[in-house]
Amino acid sequence: MISSEYDAVVVGSGPNGLAAAITLASAGRSVLVLEANDTIGGGTRSAELTLPGFVHDVCSAIHPLGAGSPFFNSLPLERFGLEWIQPEIALAHPLEGGRAAALYRDVAETAAGLREDAYGRLMRSLVRDWGSLVQEILQPVLHLPRHPFLLARFGVAALCPASLLARLLFRREESRALFAGMAAHSFLPLEAPASAAIGLVLGLAGHAVGWPLPRGGSQAIADALGGYLHELGGKIETGRRVDDLAELPKARVVLLDVTPWQFLRMAGDRLPPRYRRRLARFRHAPGVFKIDYALSAPIPWAADACRRAGTVHLGGTLDEIAAGERQVTQGRHPERPFVLAAQQSLFDSSRAPSDQHTLWAYCHVPHGSRVDMSERIEQQIERFAPGFRDCILARSCRATADLEMGNANLVGGDINGGAANLRQLIARPILSPTPYRTPLKGVYLCSASTPPGGGVHGMCGYHAARAALRDGFGVRVATNAKE
Ligand SMILES: Cc1cc2nc3c(=O)[nH]c(=O)nc-3n(C[C@H](O)[C@H](O)[C@H](O)COP(=O)(O)OP(=O)(O)OC[C@H]3O[C@@H](n4cnc5c(N)ncnc54)[C@H](O)[C@@H]3O)c2cc1C
Repeated sequence: MISSEYDAVVVGSGPNGLAAAITLASAGRSVLVLEANDTIGGGTRSAELTLPGFVHDVCSAIHPLGAGSPFFNSLPLERFGLEWIQPEIALAHPLEGGRAAALYRDVAETAAGLREDAYGRLMRSLVRDWGSLVQEILQPVLHLPRHPFLLARFGVAALCPASLLARLLFRREESRALFAGMAAHSFLPLEAPASAAIGLVLGLAGHAVGWPLPRGGSQAIADALGGYLHELGGKIETGRRVDDLAELPKARVVLLDVTPWQFLRMAGDRLPPRYRRRLARFRHAPGVFKIDYALSAPIPWAADACRRAGTVHLGGTLDEIAAGERQVTQGRHPERPFVLAAQQSLFDSSRAPSDQHTLWAYCHVPHGSRVDMSERIEQQIERFAPGFRDCILARSCRATADLEMGNANLVGGDINGGAANLRQLIARPILSPTPYRTPLKGVYLCSASTPPGGGVHGMCGYHAARAALRDGFGVRVATNAKE
């Protein structure tokens, strides 16, 4: 037990925990962060997972929401070493016959490449208003919008099932597949209401801010946040797992970068039964099976666009991706899974020894799956890059239980802190304009299980800390997040 007292204690040093700590420390509060792992960062860490000299992103790799985060953009993170690298092509999506769809920064170039005017019509005006839109969507759904018409324009498309929207708007296989791949980041069946939302946000972000990767590995994001927190006087202790709220040092406010299920255990019978029941209804998403590769050469993609892209989506057509994602939510393991791959070393030479490369890849699997998907992932890569297997020097595989062991927030392999279904887009984890607040005085949730949800953007922590500052210290923080 630590003897000193703090204004605020934050449990967990993921991007949301660090964002909460920075927001509190910026307002002049003394802050202590307690992190279970030996390194900070939660979902933004890097390590030599395969061979010496190969730097792999343990969790997050590509950061459209990080680059688009109004909170991150309000911080001097470059001064603490964060440098975004923009791959020439944000996203490539190969199809049979050496074809590929590509998402470029420029909407017109993307629409021209897809030969799909409707793509330009869908994206252009929303990209123009991205600065205002991102403020509206990266906060609880229950709020008074500053841009109601813009939000309505976005909402009409976002609330659709992704497969319906793609079929209604697009006539070409390439555009439909590209959109399906982005929407599949939601972990929802593509026929589910609001499954288009994440596809739309990722596509818009791709044009507005890109799909960048941090030089040196995603640990650079955590290190920059941690460095700035130290400058503000905040303290971080690693190797400090908290199992019960009673273990915490005395503090005016406590912010928990943990999932509702962990909070239920930490708080025990201190929570009123009604709130316990509401949290117990919170649902986790399917999980992921992840592989990191050390490669002797760049991946021999058949389609040229894939050799110039930071991210490659492997899953074929909209129909194929939809079928695979449906199977995952039904508890099955697709023969041809949708695979998300990132090739950081093509754009950042610090990731691998010279002329050698890394590959980061995962596929979706049922919640808590124990199935080894490495063979099926490799078949999908080989399908679009014949000869890939010949480049493999080493691989590091992690199933859902391995992921959860490395970070307790990855319940059953769920990487986004809870399902992003329509119910939990609105009630995350409960329906409230301030869902960060809990019935325990001074205790707040600030993880990706609160709005706006998964991804490395820090906005959950930022909003939770603003609520804590208001309730606990009477401090109103003007939105310092830039539009
Ligand atoms: C494999 C994978 C790939 C991903 N890819 C991307 C991507 O490319 N782009 C993107 O934007 N997002 C990606 N994500 C999602 C992103 O990493 C998360 O949404 C984000 O990190 C959530 O931030 P957080 O602060 O809420 O939680 P986390 O980052 O999970 O951090 C929680 C922290 O709390 C600590 N903790 C938990 N319980 C306790 C406890 N009891 N005591 C003390 N400490 C505790 C954990 O150790 C951890 O450090 C990925 C995630 C994974 C796992």
